Amino acid sequence: MQIMNDNGCSWLHDLDLRTNIKILEKNKECDWLIIGAGYTGLSAARKLAQLYPNQKIILIDAQLAGEGASGRNSGYLVDTTLNDGFTSNKELDNYKKKIDIYKLGIEAVKRLSKEYQVDCDWNDSGKFFASSNIEDEKILKYFSNTLSNLGFEHSILDKKKLSKRLGTSFYNIGLYTKGGVLLHPGKLVRAMIDALPTNVQLLENSPLIKWNKINNIIFSYFKNGFVKTKKIIFATNGFLRSLGIKSNYNFPITLTASMTRALTNKEFESIGEPKEWGVLPVRPMGATVRMTKDRRILIRNTAEVYNPFKMSEIDLKKRSSIHKIGLKKRFPELPDDLIKSSWSGIVSRTRNSSQIFEKIDNNIFAAGSYNGSGIGAGTLFGEQIAIKASNESTKEIEIIEARNKPTWLPPQPILNFGVKARLIYERERAKSEI
Ligand SMILES: Cc1cc2nc3c(=O)[nH]c(=O)nc-3n(C[C@H](O)[C@H](O)[C@H](O)COP(=O)(O)OP(=O)(O)OC[C@H]3O[C@@H](n4cnc5c(N)ncnc54)[C@H](O)[C@@H]3O)c2cc1C
Repeated sequence: MQIMNDNGCSWLHDLDLRTNIKILEKNKECDWLIIGAGYTGLSAARKLAQLYPNQKIILIDAQLAGEGASGRNSGYLVDTTLNDGFTSNKELDNYKKKIDIYKLGIEAVKRLSKEYQVDCDWNDSGKFFASSNIEDEKILKYFSNTLSNLGFEHSILDKKKLSKRLGTSFYNIGLYTKGGVLLHPGKLVRAMIDALPTNVQLLENSPLIKWNKINNIIFSYFKNGFVKTKKIIFATNGFLRSLGIKSNYNFPITLTASMTRALTNKEFESIGEPKEWGVLPVRPMGATVRMTKDRRILIRNTAEVYNPFKMSEIDLKKRSSIHKIGLKKRFPELPDDLIKSSWSGIVSRTRNSSQIFEKIDNNIFAAGSYNGSGIGAGTLFGEQIAIKASNESTKEIEIIEARNKPTWLPPQPILNFGVKARLIYERERAKSEI
């Protein structure tokens, strides 16, 4: 298994290069071992360090900390997500459980930002769900009904209003929700790295190869040695399955995105100088598009089963040309060569879009599978899995544990076949929305 990121992510290019990177060079022993240093693992480590200032905590990542999905996502800290249906009371109850988690997630990131004075370009701008396909009005009206029932401030927008606000006349129908935040994902995860207390030892570029448990002690093996620990937390999200964690409940999906250079004054004027915005698709396989506060446009419009994890340069270029088509559809007046960089990232999905938050076995815990909405949930689940692993409870844990649990997935090759078929179907349904 090769776990290696491409280095094409614009968000990460915005950050200063980190120095003093440490790898695992020899055998070690600790009280707590956390595998995976994205939002989840970093939050778990931070919380454990607060709870146990005198214990030894090791946080370890296969690559550079924060440079997986956490540093390369689209930066929507969501309060709601759009799901077809949710009309009956039972479905409404389930949706409410989901958004209760999103709410706690936003609060967790807000708390962190305040405590550590994080500058991550936080913008309470709300977000849009929009479509060029007028038939999607039906979906948006259902969704509007759901949001009204749950007391979320929102409005349905027609083409004229959308065009004025977004600077593109691509969309024919949309729904604006006031809640939700746009942020710089790279700056957020970097702030989490900087906030790590001194009793956390961060080791990077050290992939976990295998692990086992002997008499309640967990041994984790790396290229240059092993770590012996009393308790372990798996926070590897898209890589949970490859480490044998909840294998029948989650699977990885590869997403790709591109970011343009900043628009010139003239280009920006030509699209009406819109304020920062974020559009999510109405249909699952449609494009996510963002106008950043510094006038760059981000587009993410591919999602697929892709093995191995690292996308080849040729394949990334092919995805980048799909991003280019998506941009051209929305901004025909802008030049063709706007894309500055493209990248891929791995997320974890479950069959019923529920997350993993579990004690796997004595002293073994896992959190992840946020189904593409992991900024808030990852921060929250990381902190709370650390508390759960300490045999404590909180109101947050009660809310997390009240969610529907992930449902069982069929074994390979049936799983890949099923997922691929579903993605083809969804892609076809969202053909106009890439
Ligand atoms: C293109 C893209 C767009 C997205 N957009 C959004 C969005 O707008 N809003 C939102 O909320 N979410 C979004 N997401 C999802 C979000 O990024 C993830 O849900 C979130 O980052 C999960 O955080 P995490 O810490 O659990 O996992 P990750 O950030 O994936 O971290 C897991 C870490 O585990 C490490 N690891 C894996 N295997 C091993 C091993 N064997 N040994 C050691 N370390 C290992 C990896 O290197 C990685 O750093 C998007 C994701 C992508 C890729």
